[in-house]
Amino acid sequence: MDYQGLGQPARSFAQIIGQQKAIQLLQMAFGHARWAHAYIFAGPNGVGRTSVALAWARLLLCIQPLKTAHNWHDACGVCRSCHEMDKGTHPDLHVLNKELYRYTSKGKAESRPTELQIDVIREFLIPQAFQMPSISCRRVFIVQEADKMNLEAQNATLKVLEEPPTYCCIVLICARPDRLLPTIRSRSHLIRFSPLDHGIIQKHLCNAGIQGDLARFLAFISGGSLGRARILACLEGAGGLLTDSREILITGLTNSDTIVQVERIVAQCDAIAKAWSSLEPQTSPADLRRRSHRLLIDILLSILQDALKLDLLPPDRLANLDRTEPVKAMARSMDKDAIINAIEQAYEASRMLESAVNERLVWERLLLELGCRVNINRFGG
Ligand SMILES: [Zn+2]
Repeated sequence: MDYQGLGQPARSFAQIIGQQKAIQLLQMAFGHARWAHAYIFAGPNGVGRTSVALAWARLLLCIQPLKTAHNWHDACGVCRSCHEMDKGTHPDLHVLNKELYRYTSKGKAESRPTELQIDVIREFLIPQAFQMPSISCRRVFIVQEADKMNLEAQNATLKVLEEPPTYCCIVLICARPDRLLPTIRSRSHLIRFSPLDHGIIQKHLCNAGIQGDLARFLAFISGGSLGRARILACLEGAGGLLTDSREILITGLTNSDTIVQVERIVAQCDAIAKAWSSLEPQTSPADLRRRSHRLLIDILLSILQDALKLDLLPPDRLANLDRTEPVKAMARSMDKDAIINAIEQAYEASRMLESAVNERLVWERLLLELGCRVNINRFGG
């Protein structure tokens, strides 16, 4: 499956999926010529923060912005600034990320920094911020993973935020705004980005040619992130890795041989991590392995949540609509309290994976706990 084919980066506000509230705030600010010099775009990965930041930069930099059919302000698409944006060579747009470290005077070609270092801010933000724009009347900086700035980098950024030049707009993109210094937060306008409704993601996947039941399943386990849904679609495209995982988990919940099940799950996660590395070669293998295990927990949660919702909600609210029979069988073998407990245990397992507990141990503990519940209930205990 063509990962890129599922969606090119949005160029205008009208092309952005969801996030109407965030866009509306920016539209109002632009309409009243009262935009802030610093924004924090806060929200989970893959929900459109970067797309909105790029559309915003395109609008701020455009030489002849216009009003679209939505009555929204947007870039014209034809001026010199818009052309430079399209080519990715706009001299007044600066996109910073922690990987830029390798291009600083101290960085080395092989560096894979885990934090956004002060050298990136010193060499790619501060000098440029105090230079007049070249072809537009503004200069825009987009800092990706801004919550990964270390303390020195944040203090250096603060120097610009304390007295930003009038033409300057800095957008800090982050998942955890609480990791930014209070002094940065107080000088920035916070815009929150929420997870997308799974219906929106499902529709997008269907439009990209993915079959309905599969699109529904992928949308439910995407966590409201279109970016993640695209990756999941590619993983599924690599030999049905996710639907196979679902079958392994359904068997795992009803099979008492925990050790065999854990082996199957670990092998499956290794296969997913391997496929994932071809989509994100820059991410470390350990990170991808952990993400794969958390993905299987998310699939497990979708099954358990379906078992709980079965009698309460219409079928179109189920993630695994094409696998309702095993879900019904599970719902019959467990009472509601047992399912709720299983969901809690799965969330706990996800938290343990976040805190770097050995993956095999996490699954052994989880399956023993769930297997125990299923068997007790099966025998009327
Ligand atoms: Zn333009």
